Amino acid sequence: MTPVDTAPAPCAPFAPSATTLPLSPTPLSFTATSPPPNTAPPSPNTVPRGSEAGLQPLLPVVGADLQVPVVSGQQVPYAQLDYAASAPCLSAVAAHLNGVLPFYASVHRGAGYASQVSTTLYETARAKVAAFVGARPDDVVVFTRNTTDALTLLAHCVPTGEAVVHLDIEHHANLLPWRHRASGKTRCVLAGTTQRATLVSLRAELAARPAALVAVTGASNVTGELLPIADIVDIAHAAGARVVVDAAQLAPHRRIDLAASGVDYLALSGHKLYAPFGAGVLVGRRDWLDAAPAYLPGGGAAREVGLTHTDWAPAPARHEGGTPNVLGAVALGFACDALAGLPDGALETHEETLRERLTERLASIPGVRLHRIWRDSPSSIGVVAFSVGEFHPGLVAAYVSAEHGIGIRHGRFCAHPLVSRLGAPEGALRASFGVGSTVADVDRLADAVSALVSSGTCWSYSDSSGAWAPTPDPRPRPSWAQPEAAVIP
Ligand code: PMP
Repeated sequence: MTPVDTAPAPCAPFAPSATTLPLSPTPLSFTATSPPPNTAPPSPNTVPRGSEAGLQPLLPVVGADLQVPVVSGQQVPYAQLDYAASAPCLSAVAAHLNGVLPFYASVHRGAGYASQVSTTLYETARAKVAAFVGARPDDVVVFTRNTTDALTLLAHCVPTGEAVVHLDIEHHANLLPWRHRASGKTRCVLAGTTQRATLVSLRAELAARPAALVAVTGASNVTGELLPIADIVDIAHAAGARVVVDAAQLAPHRRIDLAASGVDYLALSGHKLYAPFGAGVLVGRRDWLDAAPAYLPGGGAAREVGLTHTDWAPAPARHEGGTPNVLGAVALGFACDALAGLPDGALETHEETLRERLTERLASIPGVRLHRIWRDSPSSIGVVAFSVGEFHPGLVAAYVSAEHGIGIRHGRFCAHPLVSRLGAPEGALRASFGVGSTVADVDRLADAVSALVSSGTCWSYSDSSGAWAPTPDPRPRPSWAQPEAAVIP
């Protein structure tokens, strides 16, 4: 384990990393201190290609010019590389919400003008989400709090007694709702060392014992690897099972088409899709959703209520009892529009550039290990998991934050079975990026890890009950976010 009480090396002053190690043939001119342009989404003609890709954000995000303190006393631009946990808000989403806020009012049952405008906004958001995921005309879009809520809702709607099959590489949100259903069996298929072997195991499992539903993630939240969804749909459908895709990570990075892919259900979260206002969705086939008991029994979920009898509404109202999160839904719908407006391939090119750059640079640092599930996974989203020699992941994450102003994630990423099988019992590190990220961001992370491996930390750190932190931590907080204020007296 890394010694943390040795005399720290003097901290080097912050220097934008874009001046170092250009991997592309063209010299980089971008610096981490230039704020991203606050412009409308790029038109197809302006999307950078080749050596230009990744130098500028693809879309403006709120907080792109955020400065944060580091332990040396400097303020540095924040490098937000934790998109997979929660992505920043698109600037266009924030502007749109500000514009509609004056019209905000209760939806569905108000005769007032603002109520009617709000109702239209809410229902339009539903249509926008449906279009974004390529929903079939008879699919239902149910607004939920997040992906966890959406998958829990579907678990509640799987017909009584039916079996669900999932893989062992899933986020807990796509594992625990199935395991803890009120009725019916849940079976877990262990992923093999290749995707091909995993598909063979899945096919064998479904041939041996029927299941009503196969639940898989679209992209791993730990390693970013994409799953072979088309093959999984073929295998499941051939065995008479439906497929739900946990698209919490997939949706912000790749286009989805429910109708073309045959995927039956899909769950996603607004806060990972650049709309951090508390909404998610479950989209998919109507029959199970209409047959299940109301998920949130209450106002709006029933057509008629007598003293002893309830005439439930069909989905989506059946499962959206109570006052919905109108602004969350509106933000999500608008974010879907903004992402759909990107030219074909722009997002993939941007993220692939950053991913290649980061993985190439990390792989060249002694002791750094990149994690992946499969030997044969053909492509990945903007998520990279790694370990740094014997350094505890918590220390590395605290160090890049405290000394370099970089936000990454460490731990087991709510995917404990997967992280165990990756051979990282203390967890790993995860850098993740998206439309607001640039080459300069990933270069700063690679520079910081490289400096750690060659020279160690230049501050002291301690691990108090599993949480690594600089000791002392001189970084000031805004007056409205003092840690003491978070303690309930
Ligand atoms: N599935 C995956 C693949 C995820 O990455 C996450 C969030 N990390 C979830 C589900 C759960 O999402 P939420 O916390 O928004 O419910």
